Amino acid sequence: MLTLVLPLCLAVAADDPSLLFGQEVRRAAPLGADEVAQRRAEFEAMLAERNWVQLGDQVGPASPDGGFVQPTEPVAAWNTPPHRATIFLNFFGSDSLSPGTNSALDESSCLSGAMPWPGFSGTEQQALALIQVFETQMAPYGVRIAYDERPPSHLPYAMVMMGGTPDLLGLGGSVLGVSCSSDCGDFWWRDTTFAFTDNINPNNAEVLGTTALHEAAHAFGLAHIDDSTKIMNPFVGSGDVTWGDMCTPYNDATGGINCMPTHDEFCGGGAQNSHAELLAYFGENSPDIEPPVVEILAPADGAEFAVGSSVTVEAEVSDDHEGVGWKLVIPEVDQEAVAFSFEKSWPLGNLPAGVYTLRVEAIDHERNESADEVTIYVGMDAPVPSDTSGGEGSSGGEGTGAASGSASASDGPDESSDGSSGDSAGQEDDPEGCACRGGGPADVPSGAAIVLLGLALRRRRR
Ligand SMILES: [Zn+2]
Repeated sequence: MLTLVLPLCLAVAADDPSLLFGQEVRRAAPLGADEVAQRRAEFEAMLAERNWVQLGDQVGPASPDGGFVQPTEPVAAWNTPPHRATIFLNFFGSDSLSPGTNSALDESSCLSGAMPWPGFSGTEQQALALIQVFETQMAPYGVRIAYDERPPSHLPYAMVMMGGTPDLLGLGGSVLGVSCSSDCGDFWWRDTTFAFTDNINPNNAEVLGTTALHEAAHAFGLAHIDDSTKIMNPFVGSGDVTWGDMCTPYNDATGGINCMPTHDEFCGGGAQNSHAELLAYFGENSPDIEPPVVEILAPADGAEFAVGSSVTVEAEVSDDHEGVGWKLVIPEVDQEAVAFSFEKSWPLGNLPAGVYTLRVEAIDHERNESADEVTIYVGMDAPVPSDTSGGEGSSGGEGTGAASGSASASDGPDESSDGSSGDSAGQEDDPEGCACRGGGPADVPSGAAIVLLGLALRRRRR
């Protein structure tokens, strides 16, 4: 008789490339020649359909002269305060990256169709070395770097995919990265760009980190400049590059210069001061110890409604830095609506009988969190307050309109699971609005549906 003794668990070596920062890294089988040709054809068809052009490592709307369309005036007004930001270096890849503009939903405007995206094939040590390059260059600015865990979906974050090769997208084989955003002045905060790390020696932390910086910065609106010691030079140098704090002439060797009216604001024409623009977008770095302030203005805490009626949730959210994100959560039906468009008003319709918590949760880039919540009663009376206490409603204290200064302890794990499930949950979005079905907590009828009018309401997790 043969007896096998199996270990109860298999230890994973610290440098196992299939696991980075404790999380699984997606793998993708190499494309065959036919698939490469098909991706290329699909990518070119997408460019033709959008009237876009690929110029080197940038893709965007084409002008008649073969360059990029320029905005007629700077998108951002420089008398507005800078915004804090988070950049997520995604070493894990994606089960399904799809066309679109929202990093939290695993979307990129570089894609002509949905596809899995591979993660980083180097070791954790190699990843940490390039992260250090990235963090060092961003350290002067009000930007936070995430890499070991996806940020929560209500935090507005840009994403750089740290894996793969350009042929997966249908691009030519020579580029090390690509940005498909013409986001002059960093007006949109949820761009996804690519560093094709499988085309780079994983030991070359300088080139890996600089490529990620360069593509992320294209999505802020920075263009190519002439000096090979600068991050925004279109060609990979020997490393040891910097942003540059002077007006450096454009370099259009690989094609069009994007966002010229914005660069002109700083240099007067023909040149770009990368450091000055980054300071204008993000401000100087400093600790952020102030949590956001959240106040639900309507409905009132303890409000009663008839079954089937409608109510609009209205909230005010503010913070001492621009860049804060937030979402509406209705825990009894396991639903949430992330304010991707910074909406502060959520119309709810067809309320089923039950007791519901309407909670607005906000988060800043230092991950300071706040929430406010009210409880509503549909098809039933609110509990009558007793003489000696503020009422039976356990959330009464938080529903008074005063913003709570910090998140409850239970918010922490929720945030991370929201974030990591954001991609899959996002595909349940219905742009026409939806009647999502809740589970069956005791005080909510099974099959209860709350219609969030005109907006997509997402299940929190599968
Ligand atoms: Zn570039």
